[in-house]
Amino acid sequence: MMDRRQLLLGAGGLPLVASAAATAQTAAQTTGKAAGQPLPNGVDLPEPPKKRLGWAVVGLGSYAINQVIPGFLQADESRMTAFVSGNPAKAKDLAERYGVAKTYGYDDFDKIAADKDIDCVYIVLPVGLHAEYTIRALKAGKHVLCEKPMASTVEECEAMVAAAKAANRQLGVAYRVHFEPLNIEVKRRCKQGELGDLRYITGDAGFNADPQYPPMKWRLDKPLAGGGSMYDIGIYALNGALMLADQMPDSVSAVYAYPKDDPRFKTVEGGLNWRMTFPSGLSAQGSSSYCYAGGSRIKVFGASAAINMDPASDYYDNRANLHRGWDPGTPVRAAPPYTQFAAQVDGFSQATRSNTPHRTPGEMGLRDIRLIQAMYRSADQGGVVVKV
Ligand code: NDP
Repeated sequence: MMDRRQLLLGAGGLPLVASAAATAQTAAQTTGKAAGQPLPNGVDLPEPPKKRLGWAVVGLGSYAINQVIPGFLQADESRMTAFVSGNPAKAKDLAERYGVAKTYGYDDFDKIAADKDIDCVYIVLPVGLHAEYTIRALKAGKHVLCEKPMASTVEECEAMVAAAKAANRQLGVAYRVHFEPLNIEVKRRCKQGELGDLRYITGDAGFNADPQYPPMKWRLDKPLAGGGSMYDIGIYALNGALMLADQMPDSVSAVYAYPKDDPRFKTVEGGLNWRMTFPSGLSAQGSSSYCYAGGSRIKVFGASAAINMDPASDYYDNRANLHRGWDPGTPVRAAPPYTQFAAQVDGFSQATRSNTPHRTPGEMGLRDIRLIQAMYRSADQGGVVVKV
């Protein structure tokens, strides 16, 4: 498929609109009057709003408002056409602010089936609700991008994948770093062998959970959270390690790591230290925590070089440094064309249009929940090695 830039350019790289506008330019030069100019070369214009895929955003909480919605405002191929919320006043207010035509509640959610302006649904609800709303949206005939972690249990994830197949619709899990330029660049370097054979990956992701912060309340309540720190934040290091490894582990193990008398962690774990081994000889280990100062980092060691990403999975300003031994190394650079939030929804829109699998499909979300559940089984037995 031609991209917008190619469409604007003629065979020799000249703008298709150049000749008429060039005449106007000449006129302007001779008369000294105002006159229109041709589109500048190389401008990559967004699609007109009507041509972009329409999206419903489900759950207007902190991540939806602070990252997802602003991401749509930067997107080129996706636009918001509906909000779904249990708070009608908030939904109406936000819809007016962002020019979103329709709002739905959770009770009349299934009416989206008749809404021709909704092609895709973005589930930004607490984890315990992901499976129900994903499956309802798929049954309504919509493609679904669901936030991470995919769902509470392996069985729920399997049901979501099956529902997507039955509906012949795309299901993606919102692992945004797969659309973040620096992560993409580090992945490219690993895959191209710039580090030599990969030997070891280490990743840490956590923060100190404030139980009074409203979005933390459901995160500390298993029915809505599904799991604890490993589900919510540790999954970034796990998924990032697997993205760089580009291979599947054959065993996992883990131990719980948090003060056992901490009142925050009655139903979910406050920390988990995990390990994975791979048939190639690669190994990975990491930590997730609701008890340590916020951070996200991944370091990948190859036989001949290593890359340290710190932060690895923040919203903005991720950093990476490559070194070959004891040298201080050099920064890895990648120019972001637009944010990972915009790139992610546009990537999903493209996948649905071209009927090609999304970069982070439901099967990837299922894989990660399976691995984390195996880690929990290991930790429940004091850290035994579990074959996967
Ligand atoms: P919030 O608590 O801020 O928002 C969740 C929203 O879900 C609420 O505002 C509410 O929206 C709706 N909701 C429906 N039922 C409930 C309920 N019983 N309890 C609480 N909320 C409910 O959470 P976040 O925005 O932080 O997280 C939402 C999702 O996004 C999660 O899946 C999380 O893992 C994911 N996330 C992903 C991030 C990433 O980097 N990819 C970062 C942060 C979160 P309404 O009032 O409109 O009905």
